Amino acid sequence: MPTIGVLALQGDVREHVRMLQEAGASAHAVRRPAELDAVDALVIPGGESTTMWKLAETFDMLQPLRMRVKEGMPAYGSCAGMIMLADRIEDGIAGQQTIGGIDMVVRRNAFGRQVDSFESDLDFAGERVHAVFIRAPWVESIGTDVEVLGRCEPGDRIVAVRQGPLLATSFHPELTGDARVHRYFVDMVREL
Ligand code: GLN
Repeated sequence: MPTIGVLALQGDVREHVRMLQEAGASAHAVRRPAELDAVDALVIPGGESTTMWKLAETFDMLQPLRMRVKEGMPAYGSCAGMIMLADRIEDGIAGQQTIGGIDMVVRRNAFGRQVDSFESDLDFAGERVHAVFIRAPWVESIGTDVEVLGRCEPGDRIVAVRQGPLLATSFHPELTGDARVHRYFVDMVREL
């Protein structure tokens, strides 16, 4: 059974732990570098990417996180977590940094200009899922190694991607009671 951490600097940690357990993983919160060392993979939850970035620096987690991702640790970022896994962001605050790893540009609060939060059914990796978006980002552009796993109206925007061991969604599957996205990630971790 893989051990998957949930980055617990800020955001909805408990919901992800519960979904990972339902998807067949051993899951617990990760706050410190030593805890990060002990996990096979990591979920980066939704929350607020500016706060998460600042706390990652304060707790000396940003470099260890970058290092583990560079070394090939599987990671799944949801919403703010997607922003944290993006190599480049639009509409960040001054100096805002990410962990990076996925060759994409992510626009923060992108749907927010039209509507703050909404729910929508969409195809994720060939399965119909109910997706909850909360001040969500979208993926503005992707590099050639990035696979699109899901798109959403308005605008047929890219909202789910995978690059090798890294997975990201604009939406919050931990809030729906449907563990299929987490199961997809747990299967990824098992296969890698
Ligand atoms: N808008 C938030 C950010 O920029 C993300 C919102 C979320 O994670 N639900 O980090």
